[in-house]
Amino acid sequence: MPTLNELYQECLRLLPVAEHEVLWLCSHFSGLPKRDIPHSQLELTPEQAAQLLAAARRRAQGEPLQYITGLQPFWDFELIVTPDVLIPRWDSEAVLEQALKLLPKGAACHVADICTGSGAYALTIKKERPLAQVTACDISPAALAVAGRNAAKYTLDIDFRQGDLLSALPAPELQQYDLIVSNPPYVEDNAELPADVRQEPALALFGGPDGLDFYRRLINEGVQAYLKPGGWLLLEIGCAQAEPVSKLLQQAGFNQICHGQDLAGLDRWVQGRRPIK
Ligand code: GLN
Repeated sequence: MPTLNELYQECLRLLPVAEHEVLWLCSHFSGLPKRDIPHSQLELTPEQAAQLLAAARRRAQGEPLQYITGLQPFWDFELIVTPDVLIPRWDSEAVLEQALKLLPKGAACHVADICTGSGAYALTIKKERPLAQVTACDISPAALAVAGRNAAKYTLDIDFRQGDLLSALPAPELQQYDLIVSNPPYVEDNAELPADVRQEPALALFGGPDGLDFYRRLINEGVQAYLKPGGWLLLEIGCAQAEPVSKLLQQAGFNQICHGQDLAGLDRWVQGRRPIK
């Protein structure tokens, strides 16, 4: 039976420039921590060995690592991901830190997450603000199924709704929100993307010729009416979109518009507030 070290060396031959990914795969299939993989004399069964090598071959052909393992670490979670959802980016954690600043601890509130995908935003907010009633929407039933599995995995109570943008929410006469967050598709249609990103769902990535279609639609379809007076809209953006998105919010009558950066120092979110009167 092959030892883990032998398999590790074989995987490195298949993925020579991606040692950390090889460690990640070996750890995933053996259950050992990454630091113990090199030199490990653990013997894997032929089935385990075959699975590991098949995974390394898939990765060598450009499939995202997270679709192979089915998992992506995010915030305090190991989120389930499939090719039906965008792989949550750690850049988005900066948007969630901002969301939490807008939601006082210990206060009941209503939050909506539009374009929830794997549920990363909704789960984080519900975990950190347990008194929040969180509604999460997506146009894709397959994405919602993944988000639902993630909520079940972490026993977080989230109201999932299928539909196109705001149409998934109850009418504003019935429910308004303290915070609406969204990480909509915002990549320009003709952007040149790396091979692995191209395997992620186009539905979750592309936002029209200039990437701004979904921001325009949210605003034109009356997102402000879905906010309580004084409620916040917080949008994840591409790093060159702070100015045009801020301008859209300004034209729509939002107050207190500002933007912030992710850990790489790139503009990553824009927020605006519905006027109190
Ligand atoms: N941040 C993702 C990327 O750059 C895009 C996410 C999105 O379109 N919402 O690949």
